Amino acid sequence: MQTTASAVHPVMRPNNSERPRWAVIGGGMLGMTTAHRLLQAGNDVTIFESAPALGGLASPWELGDLTWDRHYHVTLRSDSALRSLLAELGLESDIRWVPTKTGFYTDGRLYSLSNAAEFLAFPPLRLTDKLRLAATIVYASRLKDWRRLEKVSVSEWLTRLSGRRTFAKIWLPLLRAKLGENYRQASAAFIWAIIARLYAARRSGMKTESFGYVPGGYARILRSFQERLEAEGAHINTSQTAVAIETNEDSDGLSVRFSDGRRKEFNRVVATVPGPVAARLSAGLSADEVSRLNGVQYQGIICASLLLKRPLADYYVTNITDSWVPFTAVIEMSALVDRSEFKGRHLVYLPKYVQPDHPAFELPDEQIEAEFLAALERMYPSFRRADVLAFRISRVRHVFPIATLNYSDRLPPMITSVPGFYVVNSSHIVNGTLNVNETVQLANTATDYIRMKPQAQSRQVPVPTI
Ligand SMILES: Cc1cc2nc3c(=O)[nH]c(=O)nc-3n(C[C@H](O)[C@H](O)[C@H](O)COP(=O)(O)OP(=O)(O)OC[C@H]3O[C@@H](n4cnc5c(N)ncnc54)[C@H](O)[C@@H]3O)c2cc1C
Repeated sequence: MQTTASAVHPVMRPNNSERPRWAVIGGGMLGMTTAHRLLQAGNDVTIFESAPALGGLASPWELGDLTWDRHYHVTLRSDSALRSLLAELGLESDIRWVPTKTGFYTDGRLYSLSNAAEFLAFPPLRLTDKLRLAATIVYASRLKDWRRLEKVSVSEWLTRLSGRRTFAKIWLPLLRAKLGENYRQASAAFIWAIIARLYAARRSGMKTESFGYVPGGYARILRSFQERLEAEGAHINTSQTAVAIETNEDSDGLSVRFSDGRRKEFNRVVATVPGPVAARLSAGLSADEVSRLNGVQYQGIICASLLLKRPLADYYVTNITDSWVPFTAVIEMSALVDRSEFKGRHLVYLPKYVQPDHPAFELPDEQIEAEFLAALERMYPSFRRADVLAFRISRVRHVFPIATLNYSDRLPPMITSVPGFYVVNSSHIVNGTLNVNETVQLANTATDYIRMKPQAQSRQVPVPTI
């Protein structure tokens, strides 16, 4: 499918032949926001996306007769970059803010852990352990110097702050759930970024948290965003996979080659794809650049979506510490999103975070479904298989880079040694977790950076501050 925009941007611009021609490879939220900023700065921009539609990890899909996000998405009140973008799209005032509850499944029991009183009554920990755990979270949420945290391993840091018992009982299972055995290589900056983001969602202390969503989900956001890009003059090409970027000696530009053999010429190319994909795109990259791009350790995901007749519980997130459970959390979207969006039914996600080469990626859907449903039956006595109206599995090998020790010293450069070729991706989110707000903020900062210093030789990447 190929759609080419023809709408005219309201701002006066030089005619097409004078405007720098940019290609943006990857049409996720990062590629779309990068294209948007480049267009606003008066460039001619073409997006190439390998999937049949824009959106990447944020894209919607069909679950039975429901269209909703392929992966669960919430917005926080503190997501200022995303909220500004939504305001540009006329959607910010539509965000619904909803107080949600958090569950905790441990030792075969489900607990509510949504306020200070429930935390104090939480049986698996002693009072002293709880006080140290609460102090760890408050301390982490106030820390600003993430560079210092990059030098210490997450397990050492959390054990020191929370104590051995709480580390073994709470932190270790949660770290394993998100990182598998790679938790051993993660720095304290990893957990700090998660705590800082989630703490911002709470109004104060351990009080109720409030999450937001746009009615219609990311399908609506992406539709509005694509319309905006087209109105700004973007050329949008979907089902187009870039396979090589070559320097064109005659034109002093770059030639992008696609999997169908076609080529297109540009002045500049920015790839917003994962590091290993970017490393394969240009034969002109130095050995050090290739090694940095391939050196980023990603975590992947197998994420099941379930449409149910009845709810499981009323927690938006249920964290799980029992290792026999084959998924790493339960996300009950219908505890947040008005059920009229789901025609009165309930939407649940069961994510399982795994390394990109994990054998679970090869398992057939039927086997994953059987294992996941058997676990739900054990966890929720009221759950019945007959309640499952639809079940669908998403598999993605490169979801987020792991914040390993001294991560920021090994960042891939944004401005590569191939003139006019830039790489901007989630590996450049160095002091945050992967979320759309960080993604939009990265696009805003990186676009300014590569526009202003197109020929810079420096390896420095702009680090957005939170
Ligand atoms: C399970 C899950 C839950 C999440 N929950 C939240 C949440 O609650 N809140 C939140 O804010 N964020 C959340 N996120 C994160 C959010 O989805 C990401 O921050 C965002 O979508 C990243 O966008 P991106 O453009 O950087 O990457 P991607 O979306 O991965 O985009 C990269 C694009 O490049 C394309 N591509 C790759 N190779 C090529 C090629 N050779 N040629 C052309 N195109 C190519 C891909 O098809 C893809 O569309 C979640 C993500 C996941 C997976």
